[in-house]
Amino acid sequence: MSLLVVGSVAFDAVETPFGKVDRMLGGAATYFAVAASFFTHVNLVGIVGDDFTEKDASIFHGRRVDTLGLERAAGKTFFWAGRYNENMNERTTLATELNVFADFKPRLPEAYQSSGHIFLANIHPTLQSSVLHQVKRRPKIVALDTMNYWIERTPKELRETLRHTDILMINDAETRQLSSEHNLMRAARHIFKLGPKALVIKRGEYGAMLVHQNRAFSVPAFPLEEVHVPAFPLEEVHDPTGAGDTFAGGFMGYLASVRSKSDVELRRAMVYGSVMGSFTVEKFGLDRLRTLKRSEIHVRARHFAKMTQFSL
Ligand code: AMP
Repeated sequence: MSLLVVGSVAFDAVETPFGKVDRMLGGAATYFAVAASFFTHVNLVGIVGDDFTEKDASIFHGRRVDTLGLERAAGKTFFWAGRYNENMNERTTLATELNVFADFKPRLPEAYQSSGHIFLANIHPTLQSSVLHQVKRRPKIVALDTMNYWIERTPKELRETLRHTDILMINDAETRQLSSEHNLMRAARHIFKLGPKALVIKRGEYGAMLVHQNRAFSVPAFPLEEVHVPAFPLEEVHDPTGAGDTFAGGFMGYLASVRSKSDVELRRAMVYGSVMGSFTVEKFGLDRLRTLKRSEIHVRARHFAKMTQFSL
């Protein structure tokens, strides 16, 4: 079953305690598509400017990513710059230059209009809704990401989009803000009344939590024993940029590749999401995903299974 992603394709400038890169390929849809393509075929809808070269596009070549929906417009590609603090758990946005992204109107090529699985990355909720209006059949799963900016500025539009969303994937601060509840289980119950049937709360270095059918399931962020530098897990995190979108790519890619959407499969999807995110943070930008092999994903997933097992 194919998977559609709509979101940003960008150039990023990133500064972490491990180094600084002035311009590298990024964007939510880019991280998502590359990660998900390890599991299924991905259709990508986004926009880039005329500074986006064939070399930049080569990240998608040789992968199961269809770029027919990647529009090219006159002007510059979306640019984002961010800096991480010493312990990497806080980041400051230094620049957001929308450029061609400012006039982005997602248009689904005909072949994408029957996508069974859809991931709406973090964009204006009205644009997210416009994607759903272009889909011919009711998709099996619609998952959505959003951020504080839209929760604060476009609450009505976001509520409308949430009515058609099956899985909401946001961080803990956004969960609390959207629900006005501090306790995450209460927050989830509130969010379920808005439309979603499942909530995935991304918690950075603390992993992620799934709430589904009134049950919670947590996965760690990455396996400590896999870390080559012993002792402190953070020593191996070089750049957390894109971890959330990579998580979403692993999660949705896995879900799209299996027929059942049971609680068991959702839990497996959480593990694959976490595994994919754990690779992204090991190097700057997309560098680790570029060289990643399927066998490495399975080794790490098995490791997760062992790591989280216990008996009573
Ligand atoms: P994450 O670290 O998972 O939150 O994703 C970071 C990616 O999102 C970067 O590659 C940015 O290019 C992209 N990004 C940052 N701000 C925005 C925004 N306002 N809208 C869409 N994409 C963004």
